[in-house]
Amino acid sequence: MIFLDAAATTPVRREALEAMWPYLSGEFGNPSSHHTLGEAAAAALAGARSGVAKVLNCRAGEVTFTSGGTEADNLAVKGIALARQAADPSMNRVVISAIEHPAVEESARYLERVHGFVVDVLPVDGDGLVSVDALTDVLRPETALVSIMYANNEIGSIQPIEALAAAAREGGVPFHTDAVQAAGWLPLDVKALGVDALSMSGHKLGAPKGSGVLFTKGRLRVEPLVHGGGQERGKRSGTENVAGAVALSTALALSSAEQPEQASRAAGLRDQFIERILASVPGAFVTGHRLQRLPSVASFCFPGTSGESVLLELERLGVVCSSGSACAAGSDAPSPVLLALGIAPEIAQTAIRFSFTSSVTDSELEQAADAVETAVGRVRNLASPQAG
Ligand code: PLP
Repeated sequence: MIFLDAAATTPVRREALEAMWPYLSGEFGNPSSHHTLGEAAAAALAGARSGVAKVLNCRAGEVTFTSGGTEADNLAVKGIALARQAADPSMNRVVISAIEHPAVEESARYLERVHGFVVDVLPVDGDGLVSVDALTDVLRPETALVSIMYANNEIGSIQPIEALAAAAREGGVPFHTDAVQAAGWLPLDVKALGVDALSMSGHKLGAPKGSGVLFTKGRLRVEPLVHGGGQERGKRSGTENVAGAVALSTALALSSAEQPEQASRAAGLRDQFIERILASVPGAFVTGHRLQRLPSVASFCFPGTSGESVLLELERLGVVCSSGSACAAGSDAPSPVLLALGIAPEIAQTAIRFSFTSSVTDSELEQAADAVETAVGRVRNLASPQAG
């Protein structure tokens, strides 16, 4: 099987598994316990936090471990907006882009539904990019937060995060970015990016599912969503997932050390793959920005097919990928991300995303490209046999 669905999830790296193993077995303590087992767990958690902080170029105290990207996004969007409103009741707007992951979009909708916020949704252009001027124009004195993703999970387009964060800063509004897909592929230095908050998820970069991080800058207040014993400096109660945090920190450190080399290698393979598909599959086109995209994501529409049928055909041919985001799987509705790019619904339903891990090889992508040509041809023949 050729696995080209790494944007959905990745296998746990051996190094991450080995690093976490002691905290699932002999050193199984609760970091809040005042005995040697507990202290060992607390030390491991502190080490994991410092490891993440090193990659993000922030202080360890600015790192909150969560149960994953979804929780990190929820904590950022709801937690920051509600804390700002608690300090100043006039704060009642949040800004997001039209192509956010549901973890951000639904958090903003919750603020609208339950707390009376106004959600300003910034459009994207045909490449999936947000305009910095449009952000500047939409900011109001009542804007509590801007949340714009670093890189999109369906089309891979990378936003001009430094410029967007600078525009928000100019307007005096905290800026959060969902870096779940960017992590492992793009620089994550929060100071260089100029962001106030950033979310990540362990399982996209070789750590287990159920581990995540939210960075929040300095004294930026965050209203907790999970109440209890006050762990994670009161931002996120609950006994910490020590093993998950250790694995995330290990996988993040490795992927960030490998990042420049792996990213340029993957980008080269991605471009060859894209060229090959465009040359061999009539009518195919790339979704998202052609170059300003994740090195690991190649996404297309294949008009005259159905994405689901091509997906099934590809799986028969030994290639596993995705017809949209995993989160939207099972839904027949065309992807809101593709509709936001201006793609017609019937064409959006023909979308396929190929996403690689850094260990992808040239020959795997060649075989996958052959399979795509065959699969699309078969599905088109079934749709209109006389044409074939
Ligand atoms: N944000 C983006 C951009 C994602 O791609 C995902 C997962 O696909 C998430 C958030 C949610 O992360 P998790 O699966 O860790 O909850």
